[in-house]
Amino acid sequence: MEKVRRGPRCAMFAPPLSAEDLEQLRAALKAPEVATSSIWRWLEKKGANVGIETVKRHRRGECYCRRES
Ligand SMILES: [Zn+2]
Repeated sequence: MEKVRRGPRCAMFAPPLSAEDLEQLRAALKAPEVATSSIWRWLEKKGANVGIETVKRHRRGECYCRRES
């Protein structure tokens, strides 16, 4: 089993998302009332190839992005 490490930025911030999408995504991630599963479904619809675990990990602050905000 691989240990949880602080990896690179989450894949969900990579293309194909537009700048506008990213803005929406960041707002959703910060909103406690928005469910992780709905964020993930939104990402899927946008064509982003991201696992729900990535979204969960990000929300728990176990990734690199945290330092940037
Ligand atoms: Zn992240």
